[in-house]
Amino acid sequence: MGKIRPEENAVCIWNLQRARTAYISGEELNALERWGQGENNVFADRLKTLGLIEDGERLSVKEAIALSRDKKAPRNSFCAPESLHVELTGYCPLDCPQCYKDKRKSEPLDYDFLLSVIQQAEDMQVFQIALGGGEPLSYPNLHLVLAEINQRGMASSITTSGFGLDSHFLDELIGRGLRHIQISINGSNEKIHSQSRDGYEYAVRALDLLKKTKVSFGVNWVARRDNIDDFPDFIKKMKSYNVDNINILRYKPSANETYEENRLSADKMALLFKIIKNTRSIRLKTDSAFGKLLCHLNQRVSFMSGCGAGRRFLALDADGFYRPCSHVSIKERADNLYQLWYQSKYLDMFRSIGDKIGEPCAQCDYLLGCYGCRAVVLGQGGDFFDGDKECVDSHYNCWR
Ligand code: SF4
Ligand code: SF4
Repeated sequence: MGKIRPEENAVCIWNLQRARTAYISGEELNALERWGQGENNVFADRLKTLGLIEDGERLSVKEAIALSRDKKAPRNSFCAPESLHVELTGYCPLDCPQCYKDKRKSEPLDYDFLLSVIQQAEDMQVFQIALGGGEPLSYPNLHLVLAEINQRGMASSITTSGFGLDSHFLDELIGRGLRHIQISINGSNEKIHSQSRDGYEYAVRALDLLKKTKVSFGVNWVARRDNIDDFPDFIKKMKSYNVDNINILRYKPSANETYEENRLSADKMALLFKIIKNTRSIRLKTDSAFGKLLCHLNQRVSFMSGCGAGRRFLALDADGFYRPCSHVSIKERADNLYQLWYQSKYLDMFRSIGDKIGEPCAQCDYLLGCYGCRAVVLGQGGDFFDGDKECVDSHYNCWR
């Protein structure tokens, strides 16, 4: 089975292979509870097919559901983050035009502090620790960090440009328990890629190496005006590497670029939607900042989609500050992860977006599965509870 975690009148089941969480509540929770007590039913059969539960685990499912009846989560949130996003270092040897990080920071995250955070994450039953940067492969104790996460029963992933990766280094990371690696690449060729990112050769070399291993790997691709027409060719190329997934990220404001010139226009959003809808042969994932796209694709509003900052995940930066999301500058220090998760006023702000957000979001049917993106709103000089105005350009009808 995946890992099961009691939530407030719900459970989360984490599927390690697919790095996905199923949130089960209401009638479905009741059906799962009856399965835990010995009844066979259609819902449990579906979870078995998805690899989320197995026969022989009825007792642990039953116990988790019993615990869930007394759990109390922060409002509009979970009892713990699904994943913790750790910026190991602000240092990066590359110089990507779209980079949103503060390049002046170059001190790596304090190792002892990180160990204590990993231990607290285990205590809270966090499922995954996602390591990024800067360039995380430059972190001196990376292999020890991976071993620690693995030993504490959590999954680890690394997002990297591929800089500095060779077969020996990769073998060591895998040997220390690395579960997944995500390579950042923005085009099917160097010309397209280099309009927004540096280091095409490192990304391609990393993909060549990864193709020969058994470790799960995917790519991060930022959807922009200068690479959207290349996306079909990009998909073909990624298929040739047998990548597990393409994670489509929404473009966010950065210091070196003009947001309006690089974000997708309404027509290009429609094109992206069509490509995603018609692509079957490779797994396409979308960033939580594409909440509208997800709601529209799935034709439903889910508690699990949309902005997950302070709800499904939490970020830790290289200076040891916690942030609701690595893309926002709102930050605070904390010694105790559990207290932060339950008491932070900043996290509470993110969790209350749905109550206070402005138009066009306030009246939107997708609000509770989207919330807009605070990184985009704040990055364009907006107020915290402003609606995500970019959305009004994207007419639903042209997507149907
Ligand atoms: S603020 Fe934007 S980028 Fe950050 S988690 Fe929310 S939707 Fe995603
Ligand atoms: S109007 Fe706001 S809540 Fe609705 S889909 Fe657009 S960004 Fe999301």
